[in-house]
Amino acid sequence: MNINILDNERLGQLRTLIDEAHHIVICAHKSPDGDAMGSSLAWKSYLKQIGKDDVSVCVPDAFPDFLQWLPGSNEVLRYDKRADDVRKAFENADLVCCLDFNQSMRVEDMQPLLDESKAKRLLIDHHLEPDTNNRLTISHPELSSTSEIVFSLIWQLGGYEGMTRDCARCIYCGMMTDTGGFAYNSTRPEIYFIITQLLEKKVDKDKIYNRVYHNYSSHAMKLRGHLILNKLEVVEQLHASYFVVTKEEMKRFKFIKGDLEGLVNIPLQIKGLKLSISLREDTDKPNTVLVSLRSANGFHCQPMATRFFNGGGHADAAGGKLHCSIDEAGQIALKAILAYKDELR
Ligand code: 5GP
Ligand code: MN
Repeated sequence: MNINILDNERLGQLRTLIDEAHHIVICAHKSPDGDAMGSSLAWKSYLKQIGKDDVSVCVPDAFPDFLQWLPGSNEVLRYDKRADDVRKAFENADLVCCLDFNQSMRVEDMQPLLDESKAKRLLIDHHLEPDTNNRLTISHPELSSTSEIVFSLIWQLGGYEGMTRDCARCIYCGMMTDTGGFAYNSTRPEIYFIITQLLEKKVDKDKIYNRVYHNYSSHAMKLRGHLILNKLEVVEQLHASYFVVTKEEMKRFKFIKGDLEGLVNIPLQIKGLKLSISLREDTDKPNTVLVSLRSANGFHCQPMATRFFNGGGHADAAGGKLHCSIDEAGQIALKAILAYKDELR
């Protein structure tokens, strides 16, 4: 099976970029998820494998508790905790690799460091509409995950044989989380060819599933139940739903990062539902609401994320942000649903 994604010319460009780099920063988006973390750590592992000594993974803020087991995650530099170290890494870098995000604003507080960096930039991503002011842009929205892209690049660069089990585990985690455990975005046979190769590296796939998906506290489980029971608003005629989560509720149920990850997908289990929106008050920034959108059954939520929620993303998994109260955010969600009533009906 052919999983190569670069033609010879671009493969040569990638090789040259890597060969010429000695101080490398890998950065990922705010609130890094399984794919952002998995792909970044796997790419670092490959660069180390080929002899690059100075490689730092830098992220804007915390990653969820259920990813703490990822090999190498303890060395990740968080900008909210270690701004000086991150700044130094960017200043010394001759290559910055942007993984799992399309536009520099997605690194939020780290954006000035990225924009002002003199280093060459390599983008490896699978979101729509990537920035193109990179030395090399490897953008594949048709692929499951950035982790899948990273595997294909390592494969094409001849690094599979030397790939460590830990690197394979990171890639598996990213592919698994971005496909909801291979439930969506996972029809292409190439994905299972890659999984076969990862299993050859002795990836403990069942254990990874458990670590990621069976990691709730009892409080988190009850928060999720509360939201579904008491907060879910379903607009039956328009096959759409939304729910809002307040700071008070998060406090009451002892919320920690990751507790609500994936909850936005659950309403799509309602037969025929086309759109699910989650709106959650930001615990760090006042008057800020974090928005997640998911779509199914032929409706695509990405344009809505751009038009109503200052965001974007993939066709069926998008997000954004509002600067208003949580009540106003709920009203905006309803307005957005009504604006798309012809497509949702
Ligand atoms: P999630 O709902 O898991 O936070 O995000 C789903 C997808 O939406 C992400 O993979 C990302 O592509 C996109 N996304 C989330 N938040 C934002 C945002 O604030 N701005 C943009 N442009 N995209 C976002
Ligand atoms: Mn991703």
